Amino acid sequence: MEKETPAAITIFPLEGGCACGQVRYRLETRPLIVHCCHCTSCQRETGTAFAINAVIESTLVTRLPPAPPSVPASRTQAIKPAGPPLTRGEDEDSTELKTIKTPSESGRGQQIVRCRTCQVAVWSHYGAAGSRTRFMRVGTLDEAWKVQPDVHIYTQSKRSFFKLDGLIPEFEEFYPMKEGVWREESIGRWEVHMKSDDKA
Ligand SMILES: [Zn+2]
Ligand SMILES: [Zn+2]
Repeated sequence: MEKETPAAITIFPLEGGCACGQVRYRLETRPLIVHCCHCTSCQRETGTAFAINAVIESTLVTRLPPAPPSVPASRTQAIKPAGPPLTRGEDEDSTELKTIKTPSESGRGQQIVRCRTCQVAVWSHYGAAGSRTRFMRVGTLDEAWKVQPDVHIYTQSKRSFFKLDGLIPEFEEFYPMKEGVWREESIGRWEVHMKSDDKA
């Protein structure tokens, strides 16, 4: 049985997608950072206790052709087919993605990108990072269990039934600086990235 360890560069590329299979993507390389966010907005938006977001340059996410619906893999079970097969409504146009702007604590809003057909959220865009950066919803990966978070944020609102193991940094709110949290390689990538045009 494979062990759950922090996401190593060797596990990428990894594929993922929405529940119906219309939106498929491939993360070409290791994300810049993977946040496990315990803020109450993430709790509300996902209907659960926290969100796991893999932050990556939009140019390093490749869209793939639609695929049949599947149940993602887990540590103990391989990916398997799900049903019924995708049926698109007659009024659907050819655009597979739907972007919805939701309010955020910062006041700048968040854009949640969903599959137009099954409405599952696959990634988001936040604040200054813009559309050139994607916060991929890790749970949409086919093998999400292979991607561990690098940091816990907003632990001030972490649900008490969920115990942290102390293996990665924890912050009551957001971390004050990337140094000490992000890998050197990621900081370098980010500096180049933020100089690029924001129109991915
Ligand atoms: Zn879908
Ligand atoms: Zn959050």
